[in-house]
Amino acid sequence: MDFRFTPQEETFRQEVHDFIDKECPKELRGGDVSFFEQAGNLFSWRKKVAERGWVAPAWPKEYGGAGMSIMEQFIYSMETARMRAPAPIFIGALAVAVIGPTIIIYGTEEQKKKHIPKILAGEEMWCQGFSEPGSGSDLASVQTRAVKDGDDYVINGQKIWTTLAHMSQYMLLLARTDPDVPKHKGLSYFIVPMNSPGVTVRPLMNMAGTHEFNEVFFDNVRIPAQNLVGEEHRGWYQAVTTLDIERSNIGSAVGQQQNVEDLIKFARDNQSDGVVRIKSDPALRTELAERYLETEVAMSLSSRVVSMQSKGMIPNYEASAVKLYSMELNQRIANTGVRLMGLYGPLARGSRLSPMKGRMSYAYIRNVANTIEGGTSEVQRNIVAQRGLGLPRE
Ligand SMILES: Cc1cc2nc3c(=O)[nH]c(=O)nc-3n(C[C@H](O)[C@H](O)[C@H](O)COP(=O)(O)OP(=O)(O)OC[C@H]3O[C@@H](n4cnc5c(N)ncnc54)[C@H](O)[C@@H]3O)c2cc1C
Repeated sequence: MDFRFTPQEETFRQEVHDFIDKECPKELRGGDVSFFEQAGNLFSWRKKVAERGWVAPAWPKEYGGAGMSIMEQFIYSMETARMRAPAPIFIGALAVAVIGPTIIIYGTEEQKKKHIPKILAGEEMWCQGFSEPGSGSDLASVQTRAVKDGDDYVINGQKIWTTLAHMSQYMLLLARTDPDVPKHKGLSYFIVPMNSPGVTVRPLMNMAGTHEFNEVFFDNVRIPAQNLVGEEHRGWYQAVTTLDIERSNIGSAVGQQQNVEDLIKFARDNQSDGVVRIKSDPALRTELAERYLETEVAMSLSSRVVSMQSKGMIPNYEASAVKLYSMELNQRIANTGVRLMGLYGPLARGSRLSPMKGRMSYAYIRNVANTIEGGTSEVQRNIVAQRGLGLPRE
């Protein structure tokens, strides 16, 4: 594989570079931006990116995207990350990265016209209603029921771990429409307005102390039948596409490289005052070198997914391999980072003395969830083993 850009791709990379250099406020270019401190700058940055048509680079132009090729989108994401500019989809990231593409593939024209422009404008936040207390890894077993009643569906049941449900206007819901057929065949996909009577959202705090996810209860919630996405009872197959889109996420490899580069710089700069443990614990040097090499592997795995997508192929076990490797690597990087900083390592974000503004100590706690969210590492290993390597089911 030739990793060099073609002359056209290089021209495009330079265009993105110049745009960020000129338009992105310096205060946002560091990787440790607080949304609350920089909200004004962040919103004006998002507006500039939207004016350029680059909020959803690979979406078709007819739906307000930039119609970029997958490779251009990759170059765009890499350059944005390399220049430490915040991704413009910090508002409604899930809607732009995952929900929008799903609606573009399976939604009706009416659904696309109604939602896609608002998702692009950052006016609609969405959440993903898949997991339930008894259905996570075995997602096809979801029990939330949607029963056809005249021109409506009536929904009853419960979802859990629903990220940002408390801030979302809509949910993409996976519910059972036929309980009498094999479990994969009786599911359907729906758009549920979160302000519908009968929807209750209850907060769940994660162990990093942030309110990201929730429980969502449905008590005789009525939605119009035209909120069905795709074909009735084909929801499982559509949800699998959504998960592949989610797992193909290509943004993280560059971010991981930056974290490791920042740690290396930190280790070089802070030896004299005894903050860094690199001298008393020489094994840390080899650990940092390993993290550096691993980010190169993550980049290669991501590039493979991008290269498949740009040839019109849909990555499947390959997306699982990237998800598995990158999420476990996120945890290793945070562990190395906290160890490297010695006694300062565990200091929380917000502490005046916490190195790298507490980015590593926060990641150390938050990234525990990385190997659960979007499908656990065990599940990804099963997918790679069965679909990728042709090994038998356990
Ligand atoms: C931060 C975060 C955000 C999330 N956001 C959302 C969201 O927005 N929307 C949403 O719908 N869900 C969300 N989830 C839920 C997530 O998708 C589930 O937690 C995940 O799929 C695992 O399901 P579970 O928690 O029910 O665990 P279980 O499926 O009960 O698994 C328990 C353990 O058993 C293992 N296991 C299960 N089956 C197998 C198997 N066949 N082989 C080997 N091991 C197995 C698992 O790997 C795990 O270690 C989020 C989760 C987290 C942590």
